[in-house]
Amino acid sequence: MVTLDCPEKKPISRLEEELIYNGISMNALNKAADGIVEGLFEKRKKRRGILPYTILTMALAATSTMHAPEKSMEHEIPIKTYAERQAPIISREERKEKLFSEYNFGSLEERINTQKVPILMFHEIGEPENRYRVSPSNFRNILDDLRQDNYFLVTLEEFKNGNFSRVPTGKKPFLLTFDDASRGQFEYIPGTREIDPNSAIGILEDYKKKHPDFGTGGVFFISYSEDNHKFRKPFMQDDKVQDKLEFLLENQYDIGWHAPYHNNNTNASGQDIKNQVFKLDAFLYYNTKGRIEEQRIKGYAHPFGAVPRNEEAIDELRANFDLIFNAWGGMSKHPLSDNFDVSKIPRIEMHTSNMNLVLGRQNAYKVESGDKFFYKALNEDINMYIEKMPVHAEKPE
Ligand SMILES: [Zn+2]
Repeated sequence: MVTLDCPEKKPISRLEEELIYNGISMNALNKAADGIVEGLFEKRKKRRGILPYTILTMALAATSTMHAPEKSMEHEIPIKTYAERQAPIISREERKEKLFSEYNFGSLEERINTQKVPILMFHEIGEPENRYRVSPSNFRNILDDLRQDNYFLVTLEEFKNGNFSRVPTGKKPFLLTFDDASRGQFEYIPGTREIDPNSAIGILEDYKKKHPDFGTGGVFFISYSEDNHKFRKPFMQDDKVQDKLEFLLENQYDIGWHAPYHNNNTNASGQDIKNQVFKLDAFLYYNTKGRIEEQRIKGYAHPFGAVPRNEEAIDELRANFDLIFNAWGGMSKHPLSDNFDVSKIPRIEMHTSNMNLVLGRQNAYKVESGDKFFYKALNEDINMYIEKMPVHAEKPE
């Protein structure tokens, strides 16, 4: 009996079960057994040791004898745009030096160490509003206010590198993030290829067209979404997953990982995290026909905001993701500042009333919610969010 390299030593039938549970068909398993899977895991193998993959490949190969393999793989359209705009991986010190050499302004160090970056965390876009849901009209209002307050939307890659050179003089960088891959974040009007203008993506695309000075970006931390106790694929239009993920990557958004089933990882072990990351590889491979690879996934957000207590679990996350985000904590430090910690990046939970706080003014938004937690969060967070931020560093002439 072939076993998967995890603590329980699961037999192959359990592996099959899990893959199928992940929306992976027996056909896909056969394709994997044809050896295609090896290339996909090549990069990660280098980082994480060869043994689990050897065993996996053997396990998959074992299943191929039971099922006839399929021929076509639809591999012919490569996606290059996103990969091309990725900067090479360099150390924080190198990044700093590079910035210093590109922009010769004396007080950069000081500015880096004092500048704060708001990372806004949204959940659903829809009605009615509550702690985890912002209405489409208020989402538009929020974008308007950010723009009027001189905020400029940056990408995860820019944040990772701490390079905000795209941010115009006098403007301040910010990040938009969305957790849970809910339907209101990215919806096609049923039966069409038209993006719902009231979904987050519909609103953002329209906004960027109207305001080219707003910047581009947005990170979607995806997981299988629970819908009536049944797990659904990200954004809940199960036949549109590949379309949507490709659209995101082609249009300067980022995909992040939010654990496969929105797992509460408080007590997760290093091996648990390893298994969850493996599912990310499998998910991307089988849902995008290999066109989106794991190395494009740079960010991880803790589901439930639950930070693992086990150091090995944290180490495993750090080994697999460049940036690890909390679900709380106020403004982020500049990513190149001395005490910035890539594994504890704070975010601001966004419901409409918090927008008043981000902008440092009260009652700009009418809040309609009977949700007790909503007001509790508001009161607890009120001091955290009112902070003055220096404007973006000026570029030399
Ligand atoms: Zn979540």
